[in-house]
Amino acid sequence: MKIITDKQELQNITKNTIQTIGFIPTMGALHEGHISLIKKARGENELVIVSIFVNPTQFLAGEDFDKYPKRDIADKKICELAGVDILFMPNIDMMYEKDEVTIKAPNIRGFVLDGFKRPGHFDGVLQIVLKLFNLVRPTNAYFGRKDAQQVILIKQMVENLFLPINVVDCPLIRDNNGLALSSRNAYLSVTEKEEALKISRSLQNATKLIVAGNLKIDEIKKAMMETLKGIDVEYIEIVSRELLIIEQIELKNTIILVVVKIGATRLIDNIWI
Ligand code: AMP
Repeated sequence: MKIITDKQELQNITKNTIQTIGFIPTMGALHEGHISLIKKARGENELVIVSIFVNPTQFLAGEDFDKYPKRDIADKKICELAGVDILFMPNIDMMYEKDEVTIKAPNIRGFVLDGFKRPGHFDGVLQIVLKLFNLVRPTNAYFGRKDAQQVILIKQMVENLFLPINVVDCPLIRDNNGLALSSRNAYLSVTEKEEALKISRSLQNATKLIVAGNLKIDEIKKAMMETLKGIDVEYIEIVSRELLIIEQIELKNTIILVVVKIGATRLIDNIWI
């Protein structure tokens, strides 16, 4: 595995290859969720490139940019074992200049859900992903459904800007107890982790209701709130896979999203119905 910190060096390789490139952008502190993306890319491409970059422009003031978990040594090992060919680890100066052309998330789908709760977040995500796409020139780019709105907006950017890239959305990976894997789980104490299990339980309960034939959004939300009792729920939303309002659950076209705060940690989870 080659570790590259210089964008020019990366571009020299990606510009001059005819190999198919699978790309997985990450912010590091890698876990099985990331590894599942890497493995999928490994099976579908000749060259696999992972980036690790904690992107400052997607964090709002007061968020956890300064304390975002860093595990460089472990991450390098994980990438090597997962069969990554190139690990790109730039620093901030390598990726950003002081005064830049910027990308703006779309007015509707970019400003609902997390776009509403974290204004500017998706502008930063799209900005860095576009920059990375231009350096890596991937054939296929892999994103997790864990960040549902993110992968949907990236697909829209690729479509709107005519980028010749296939965006692949990959299943959300959980631990044995059902907790959605996240680098931010590292912030949780043992009791907080126990508390966090209510999140996936609420989604399981929603699924059970739907399987039993209940397609009523209000009733499903209510049942989820019951399961989440005692937790600071930021929002539960049930939308279409286009992130638009729906009257009732539409099978194969619905996402149920839940966002909570456990202590100081903001956790997101969802299920695609
Ligand atoms: P991050 O490092 O959090 O920016 O995530 C990098 C990529 O890994 C994104 O496409 C995420 O959606 C994806 N990812 C993170 N956690 C999971 C998970 N539990 N299951 C599947 N994909 C994930």
